[in-house]
Amino acid sequence: MCGIVGYIGRREAYPILIKGLHRLEYRGYDSAGVALINADGKLNVYKAKGKVADLEHAVESKDVSGTIGIAHTRWATHGEPNQVNAHPHYSESEELAIIHNGIIENYAVLKEGLIQHGYTFKSATDTEVLVQLIEYIKHTDKVDLQTAVQLALNQVVGAYAIAVLDRSNPDIIVAARKGSPLVVGIGDGEYFLASDATPIVEFTDKVVYVGEEEIVCLERGKELTLKTIGNVVKTPVVKKLELTLSQLEKGGYPHFMLKEIFEQPTTLATSMRGRVNVEQNNITLAGFIDNKEKFLKAKRIIITACGTSWHAGLIGMYAIEEFARIPVEVEYSSEFRYRKPVIDQDDVVIAISQSGETADTLAAVELAKSHGAFIFGICNVVGASIPRAAHSGCYTHVGPEIGVASTKAFTAQVTVLTMLALMIGRERGTLSEERYLQIVAELGKIPDKIGEILKQNDRIAEFAKTFTYAQNFIYLGRGYNYPVAMEGALKLKEISYIHAEGYPAAEMKHGPIALISQEMPVVVIAPQCGTYEKVVSNIQEIKARKGRIISVVTEGDEIVRHMSDYAITIPQTEECLAPLLAVVPLQLLAYHIAVVKGCDVDQPRNLAKSVTVE
Ligand code: GLU
Repeated sequence: MCGIVGYIGRREAYPILIKGLHRLEYRGYDSAGVALINADGKLNVYKAKGKVADLEHAVESKDVSGTIGIAHTRWATHGEPNQVNAHPHYSESEELAIIHNGIIENYAVLKEGLIQHGYTFKSATDTEVLVQLIEYIKHTDKVDLQTAVQLALNQVVGAYAIAVLDRSNPDIIVAARKGSPLVVGIGDGEYFLASDATPIVEFTDKVVYVGEEEIVCLERGKELTLKTIGNVVKTPVVKKLELTLSQLEKGGYPHFMLKEIFEQPTTLATSMRGRVNVEQNNITLAGFIDNKEKFLKAKRIIITACGTSWHAGLIGMYAIEEFARIPVEVEYSSEFRYRKPVIDQDDVVIAISQSGETADTLAAVELAKSHGAFIFGICNVVGASIPRAAHSGCYTHVGPEIGVASTKAFTAQVTVLTMLALMIGRERGTLSEERYLQIVAELGKIPDKIGEILKQNDRIAEFAKTFTYAQNFIYLGRGYNYPVAMEGALKLKEISYIHAEGYPAAEMKHGPIALISQEMPVVVIAPQCGTYEKVVSNIQEIKARKGRIISVVTEGDEIVRHMSDYAITIPQTEECLAPLLAVVPLQLLAYHIAVVKGCDVDQPRNLAKSVTVE
């Protein structure tokens, strides 16, 4: 969600800030802005509704000089996305400027108090309240910026990553975080600040991850200083960034999403590297091995996640229950955290989040932790909040996922959950050695099999054109492929804005069948598996009502192929691994429909990549 960039050093800040905002565009936003202090000590703020390019256009004839600045892409929570509500926000005297990611929950009370002290407000945002509060404290308590920020944050309820500039001190940026990520890059006599490492990587590989409730002070010519909002001084821990610039580029593909779909044979191989050893027929997940007894004594496993990760969690449930015979519940994090769930010390909670920053999932983790549950995180971004909060876990290691619609992170999450299910099942003795070995061997073949599916890309692109007329789609699957149906529908909704529903195929008779007509495309995931015959009957029911069938079938299946308007084939595989193959054509289908419709595939409207507000 929204992006923060900051720079202080010897260079001109503006080009670095704008480039940084472009790097963060993938996170999703609706307006952008920048604040700079020029050589005359003037604090200039410029903002624009729309894209970063609109901001660049708006500042064309403006003074954008200065070697210190902050910049922002906003994803509106309080106040509509317009120029006035865009960040940075000035304080009353225009002495301070702030950028903020998150929500100040008690903004209304704070605002009321400030109005009584004569403060006036230009925007509808919660953020403007915070900058006014900082100024009020700075003036009344006669303290420096860092102290004023610290005191203000002590009064704030909510989540934030902020950066503040002070016209009276052009040598300092003060930044802080709680619940939203923030990274400092350390260059040669210069500092960079950002919501994630993507704007920093081309300048330095030395970074400091700002911790929960920490305030950092980036001062020209001085060492970085760090303390908590409770005033405990800390030593910054400098880490080496593993990210490379090429991972952030499109590499010849028209969109990041397509690049990421095509990367899946490689990313899955990377995800399994050092973990799945096909020669030795073995799986090793360190995060499991080190905490084996927690899983073995677990009476129940709760999987908590949002969106695509929740779909991966459902597939995980099928696999863990089948192989490990431990009851599994899959919960939407946003519901779980507020519904007073029964959690005890014998529960294992698996939290899944690509970014590792999903606010609801992080809160679910904290809740489960406070009840004594063991937390296992499955995340992609190394060092993010959820992996840090978890007792143990497993990174998916697919590299940065830039397309807002998750693809390669999903298949890696499913892979990690499958590996986990197999390991628990083997240790518990609920999975025979023979089955274990068969599935491990097959898992190793999945990357190549995805490569085979990708060869059908041109054909999928061609027939996708047929379906751009549609207002609605239904996706059907059973067993392991029911979550895949939901994931396929979500992909289509996210990027093409076509309404789509994923259903268990047999459930269709209990309602959705009323929607079937010759207008209605129905995507049926029908690989060879235990429920194949049943799915064939479900397809008959759709055909009888003239629905248009797009099917995903196993190679060599002539029956369903003949019943379908369009069929996409996937190689034969184990039933539990079919989701890893079946989802790929659905990703491509959604992508091509969105492209033909002229949609902004990588930055769909209203969506954010990393949902850091609840
Ligand atoms: N709550 C703030 C606003 O609506 C910040 C939103 C964001 O994270 O971009 O302006």
